[in-house]
Amino acid sequence: MSDRRPPTTDDLLHWDREHVWHAFTQMQEYEPLLIESGQGATLFDTAGRAYLDGSASMWCNVHGHRHPRLDAALREQLDKVAHTTNLGLSNPTSVELARRLVEIAPAGLEKVFFTGDGSSAIEAALKMAFQYWRQAAPPQPARTRFIAIGEAYHGDTLGAIGVGGVDRFTAMFAPLTFDAIRIPSPGGPCPHTGRPAPSLAEVLASLAAVLEEHRGTIAALVMEPLMQAAGGILVHPTGFLRGVRELTAKHDVLLILDEVATGFGRTGTMFACEQEQVVPDILCLAKGLTAGYLPMAATLTTAAIWQVFLGSHADRRTFFHGHTYGGNPLAAAVALASLDVFREECVLESLAPKIVRLGEHMARLARLDHAGDVRQCGLVAGLDLVADKASRRPYPWQEQRGTRACLAAREHGAILRQLGDTVVLMPPLCITLDEIDRLAAAAEAGIIAATTS
Ligand SMILES: *Cc1c(COP(=O)(O)O)cnc(C)c1O
Repeated sequence: MSDRRPPTTDDLLHWDREHVWHAFTQMQEYEPLLIESGQGATLFDTAGRAYLDGSASMWCNVHGHRHPRLDAALREQLDKVAHTTNLGLSNPTSVELARRLVEIAPAGLEKVFFTGDGSSAIEAALKMAFQYWRQAAPPQPARTRFIAIGEAYHGDTLGAIGVGGVDRFTAMFAPLTFDAIRIPSPGGPCPHTGRPAPSLAEVLASLAAVLEEHRGTIAALVMEPLMQAAGGILVHPTGFLRGVRELTAKHDVLLILDEVATGFGRTGTMFACEQEQVVPDILCLAKGLTAGYLPMAATLTTAAIWQVFLGSHADRRTFFHGHTYGGNPLAAAVALASLDVFREECVLESLAPKIVRLGEHMARLARLDHAGDVRQCGLVAGLDLVADKASRRPYPWQEQRGTRACLAAREHGAILRQLGDTVVLMPPLCITLDEIDRLAAAAEAGIIAATTS
């Protein structure tokens, strides 16, 4: 129908309500906002109103929207081919990306399995770890279980929620998932009770006890390093990651690090695990991999793990797992260009003053009447809204204070995303100091609006 008129904004708003089922959204209460374009750290709606992208388009955006280098890389790849399969075939762009990822990843991670998104990077990691023990020399088929951290978030597919610990997302599906062994998170107060987190020593002691009790039956421990993202920006005490690596190594348990949220500069270094000199056995990357342009993920592992999957076809040692768009050349092209931008624009080197500035604003916001605990890790920070500041008593969750604060911040020119009653600031890494000031001011206005009525 070539004579169809272009839809008006009103048409689109109507069709959005009628047809689009939004992720993690109560559609009965959904407040539509159509973002039409972006530039740098700013997004524009269909009426031309500007908003700072305070959630980095859900952790993904790194160098800003419409970065000329990234746009050009995509166009160049389009002139070659958009997609070919990586099932038994290859293409130059994804080969080059695999090589570059190995160069920047912690030493020893040499093999790159391309997946489609964060959840599928985790699924691949879990299955890889499980199959590894079946085919190891000697085989240890009793190693079938996983250890996970309380309040962990590893995605929404069934394997990923099996190792997830955010009950409000996963409790409903418990009958469908496998039963991970959980240790408490040492990162920040319990989001339900406001009680302080257990100490580093307590958590490491409970991990040591679990490893002892389940000796010989654990395939891997999976965790988000330094900071748990969707659990509420739960920042771990220094030494936790190192302690976990030492204990897992001692018990011959594989360590899977989920850097889907922390990877690509978010915590101040390219990968969070660098800060405690930890090398995992398996590393999952996604959100920032293509700098927020296209879905792509990767599961990296060591030659030691890869090697047990080798054999003749008849040996049946193959990793029978894959995703149709794994290694997609368009996504690979933009991921490669993003790594170039990291280098050319000295992105990591530019972060320190931005992290300091965000910290100064968080310290100020922490003094607001209904601000509870404040946590920051690199260029991401979370602030808990509480009913009573002195006792840290949470608001009744039904009041949705976090959601209301973020919606109110839109009126002040920022898109923010809450995690329960935690208001989160996580701008693209390219944000300027002046933009951080404006983002914090919008967050402050939103918080005040949502906590004074
Ligand atoms: C977002 C996230 C995932 C899931 O990624 P998707 O691309 O949404 O499937 C997994 N792990 C962590 C730490 C995440 O933040």
